[in-house]
Amino acid sequence: MQKINIIGAGLAGCELALQLADFGYDIDLYEMRPDVSTPAHKTNLFAELVCSNSLKSNLISTSSGLLKAEMDLLNCKLLQIAKECSVPAGNALAVDRDNFSAQVTHKIKNHSKIRVINQEFYNFTDDLTVLATGPLSSDRLIDSLSKVIGDEYLYFFDAIAPVVSKDSINLDIAFSKTRYDKGEADYINCPFNKDEYYRFVEALLEGEKYQAKEFENDYFQNVEFKYYENCMPIEELARRGRDTLRYGVMRPVGLENPNTGQKPYAVIQLRIENSNKTAYNLVGCQTMLKQLSQKQAFRLIPGLKNAEFVRYGSIHRNTYLNSPRICNRNLSLTNKPNIILSGQLSGVEGYTESIFSGLLTALIIHHKLKYNKDLNLLPETTVCGQLWRHLITDNSDNKKPFIPMNANFGLLPDVYQEKKNKKEKKELLASRAINDLKNYLLSNNLS
Ligand SMILES: Cc1cc2nc3c(=O)[nH]c(=O)nc-3n(C[C@H](O)[C@H](O)[C@H](O)COP(=O)(O)OP(=O)(O)OC[C@H]3O[C@@H](n4cnc5c(N)ncnc54)[C@H](O)[C@@H]3O)c2cc1C
Repeated sequence: MQKINIIGAGLAGCELALQLADFGYDIDLYEMRPDVSTPAHKTNLFAELVCSNSLKSNLISTSSGLLKAEMDLLNCKLLQIAKECSVPAGNALAVDRDNFSAQVTHKIKNHSKIRVINQEFYNFTDDLTVLATGPLSSDRLIDSLSKVIGDEYLYFFDAIAPVVSKDSINLDIAFSKTRYDKGEADYINCPFNKDEYYRFVEALLEGEKYQAKEFENDYFQNVEFKYYENCMPIEELARRGRDTLRYGVMRPVGLENPNTGQKPYAVIQLRIENSNKTAYNLVGCQTMLKQLSQKQAFRLIPGLKNAEFVRYGSIHRNTYLNSPRICNRNLSLTNKPNIILSGQLSGVEGYTESIFSGLLTALIIHHKLKYNKDLNLLPETTVCGQLWRHLITDNSDNKKPFIPMNANFGLLPDVYQEKKNKKEKKELLASRAINDLKNYLLSNNLS
C-alpha cells in the first residue's frame, strides 16, 4: 500500500490519518508540538480544541446538526470519539476536551498503520503529502508553501462581513441596482437618509468589541499592512470620522433609488453570497463587534430591521489559502499535485468543518488511489457537498473574495414548497440532504 504523509495532528489531520490507516494505507503523521508550538495550543495532545469545547448543536434543524448527521453517514471517526467524550450541554455536542484529545491521541499512537513523527515539516518532497496544518501553520512551512504557490494566494486574516438570509431583507425598502447601472443588478442596496446614517454610525461606535488576543495584536502590528488595511473593521473606519463611511464603503454615488429617483445619503450594498442567491453579504461590514452589538447595529440598516444572520462578521488571525485558485477538484495543488490541502488551511472554518474536511480528503484520496477515478462530488443539497464546492469554486471573476466557510443553511439550494415557517423549511432542507446523501452513498458503492 502507498505511503502517505499527513502534516499536522489537528482535527483534520487526525480524522484523515484514522480514515486512511483503516483503508490500509501506511501513514507518516508529522506533528511539530511540543518542540514547536502555536500561540493557541496548550497541550502535547493531538486534535486539541484550542478554544470552546463545543462542536455546536446536534439538532438536525440547525446547519451544524445537519453537518454532523451527514458526517455520521460518512462514518466520521472523530465525531464518534466526540460522542463518547461528550458532557451535558443541552442540544449541543460539547466534549470533555482533555478526554477527547487523549482518546484521539491514543487511537492514533496505537494504530499499526500510523507512524507519528514528532517534527516540524517544511521541506516538500515528491511524496504524496497532505497539509493539514491549520490556521496557525508554522511560519517556516508557510514560507516554503509561498514559494510553491506564490504570496498572492495566501491569507493571514479572516475579515468576514456578516451574511443575512435573502428572505429576511425588506425589498420594499432595499432595491436591486449596480453602481451607475453597470452590469447585472446583482447587488441589493440599502438606502440611508441622514438621520438613519448617523444613528447607524453611533451604534457602530457604541457597540461592544471582542478584544484581539495578545498574539493577534502582535501579528496585526508585524504583518505587512496591505493585509490589514483591506480588512479594516467597519467600526474602526467609523471612528476615523463620522463621515468616513459615506465617502468610502457606504458612498451612494451612482446608486439613485429607483423608487424615489433620489440619491440616498449613504448606502450599504449587499452582495450575493451563494450560487442559490439565498444569502447576502454586507459589503465592507467586516467587524470585531460582539454578536449582540452586530445585531443591534446592522438591524438599523434600512431594509434589514428583521435581518436573520446566517453568519456574523469577524476578524482574526487565520492562515488559509485561496484553494479555488490553486487546487483542482481533488484539493491537490494544480502545479504540484502530490501536495493536497485539508482542514482550515484549505478554507473551511470551525471544529466540525475541519473534521469534515479531513474526512473528505481521505475519501477523495482513497477513491483516486483505489479506483484511479475522481470521487463524484457529494450532493449539492448537502452541507458537506456545498463545503466541498466552496473550496473548488473560483468566484474571483465576480470580484468576490475567497473567505473561509462554516456550515450554514444559506449554502443549500432553496426548497420550493408552499409557505412554510423557518423551522419547517430547515427541517425540509435537512431531510432532503439526508435522503440525497443516502442515495449518493448507495449509487457510489460507499455505504
Ligand atoms: C485561536 C483560535 C480559536 C478558535 N476557536 C474555535 C472555536 O471555539 N470553535 C470552532 O469551531 N473553531 C474555532 N477555531 C477555528 C478552527 O476550527 C480550529 O482552529 C480547528 O482546530 C482547525 O482544525 P485544523 O485541523 O485545520 O487545524 P488544527 O486543529 O490547528 O491542527 C493543525 C496542527 O498542525 C500542527 N502544525 C502546524 N504547522 C506544522 C508544521 N509545519 N509541521 C508539523 N505540524 C504542524 C499544529 O501544531 C496543529 O496540531 C479557532 C481557531 C483559532 C486560531
